[in-house]
Amino acid sequence: MLVYYRISNLGFNLLKARLLVVELPLEQESVARTRKIVHVDMDAFYASVEQRDNPSYRGKPLVVGGSPNQRGVVAAASYEARKFGIHSAMPSVTAIAKCPGLIFVRPRFDVYREISTSIHAIFKRYTDLVEGVALDEAYLDVTENKQNITYASTIARYIKTAIFQETQLTATAGVSINKFLAKMASGQNKPNGLTVILPEQAMSTTSRKRLRFCRTASD
Ligand SMILES: [Mg+2]
Repeated sequence: MLVYYRISNLGFNLLKARLLVVELPLEQESVARTRKIVHVDMDAFYASVEQRDNPSYRGKPLVVGGSPNQRGVVAAASYEARKFGIHSAMPSVTAIAKCPGLIFVRPRFDVYREISTSIHAIFKRYTDLVEGVALDEAYLDVTENKQNITYASTIARYIKTAIFQETQLTATAGVSINKFLAKMASGQNKPNGLTVILPEQAMSTTSRKRLRFCRTASD
């Protein structure tokens, strides 16, 4: 009987030990999974650069892209042009039909690349974990950041401010726990927006209705 007890007790302890072994890494893993991701997306980037550099273009429907006579396509449309239903990848001939006064500007990729480099230099003040998606778009992992800032939304706000001060261009930021949700967040509030999808919101649902939109006062 005693022997039996000892064995069963040993068995129970072994089971407990096994449960602990199983539980501990899972717990650590869930903590490690809570990352802080910022998605930064410049607003109508190429078009905004052209409006910045040529004051006569400001406030007007404009596209950057190929000429309608040469079967060109729209690479970027200003927000004024978007009101006419014009968007990127649309044939330029379709765009001009939608808005006869539309301004066409040839792309200046060297200028866009230079601005992109400046923006990435701003990102690097906070983290080296930067994944550029295009010249105007990037994901930043700020879970551990160079300035030990607690809230990713604070970093996003600082980045937006620095981008505007240093390039005179606006950016939209989305903040969440992974790239998918951070991009979803930035897509909610353009231009010049800052949207946060908190972990509990992300866990409960990704339904648009339950997301809290936060627009910064500085916008
Ligand atoms: Mg963009």
